[in-house]
Amino acid sequence: MKDHYGRQISYLRISVTDRCNLRCRYCMPVEQRGFVPSEDLLTPLEIEQLAQAAVSLGFDKLRLTGGEPTLRRDIVEIVERLAGVPGVDELLMTTNGIRLPWLADPLAQAGLRRVNIHVDSLDQVHLARLTRFNVVHKVWAGIEAAERAGLRPVKLNAVVVRDYNEEDVVGLTRLTLEREWHVRFIELMPLGEPAGFALDHFVPTQESMDRIERALGPLLPLNDGKLQGEAQLYRLAGGRGSVGFISPVSHPYCDSCNHLRVTADGRIRLCLLSEEELSVRDVLRGGGSIQDLAALLRRAVACKPPGSQLEQGVFPANRAMVRIGG
Ligand code: SAM
Ligand code: SF4
Repeated sequence: MKDHYGRQISYLRISVTDRCNLRCRYCMPVEQRGFVPSEDLLTPLEIEQLAQAAVSLGFDKLRLTGGEPTLRRDIVEIVERLAGVPGVDELLMTTNGIRLPWLADPLAQAGLRRVNIHVDSLDQVHLARLTRFNVVHKVWAGIEAAERAGLRPVKLNAVVVRDYNEEDVVGLTRLTLEREWHVRFIELMPLGEPAGFALDHFVPTQESMDRIERALGPLLPLNDGKLQGEAQLYRLAGGRGSVGFISPVSHPYCDSCNHLRVTADGRIRLCLLSEEELSVRDVLRGGGSIQDLAALLRRAVACKPPGSQLEQGVFPANRAMVRIGG
């Protein structure tokens, strides 16, 4: 479906929980309060109905996210239901990887295609400072489990944070020399309560690229230098994997945005950085049909704003990434 600005909207990111087993400094305070009560979360059946409505409008790519999606006890059932919806071509998940040693196989068998695993550093101390837990070995085990289960190619996401991990882009990029892994560096966005943190610790993409090139040699553009999704892609000479940069602050990609988000409490978020929302849950629990849901999604696409106002210094304060769904 095309929106008012000619963008083809075909990708739905669905948050299935706002809870997490980590507390990344830029995402969630240690004492996070006010989690969505479990009865307000969309059920597996409701998520399936949402997917059916989305597919009827031409959506073909779904990503499960959160919070930490693997904390949902019914996550395998959710994946199984979504994989069974005709027209879903890509079924993906973004996760911190910690529970993948147990879940990678059942998720792959249920129909999950790939995972993006979030790991900001390979350094034990640095990762523990950022996530507030000593988890580097657990995340690494999760990455290996994903690969063994066939959730390939493995993609790794790292948010670059000044004074925490800005040097670690080099070690993460080095992984692409030996492995067919795709590493993506994300610029820190000023979202929700820890917004002040993000402003103080922001690292522009260009700085990370310079650092990588000084250490490992030139980054060679892929895809004719054009954006692929949200990322600008490169590889190192002789590298087996790719290196990508997602730069929502220094180079917003709003012109090519192709997705909508649904929050854990069932609200369609028109743009990560806009505060407008429409409730899927109200439609479903008010006795609405799949067609009613499709009408709501159509309305959401029609109302989708042209872009964020980050460049103008306008930041959404009402919800952190963990509430919206990354
Ligand atoms: N828990 C899973 C994870 O960490 O991958 C899924 C949800 S998380 C909110 C999704 C992605 O959002 C992660 O890659 C995380 O690093 C990113 N993220 C969270 N807060 C962010 C922020 N303020 N700026 C940029 N990326 C952020
Ligand atoms: Fe949890 Fe992901 Fe947020 Fe980190 S970024 S606190 S892993 S939801």
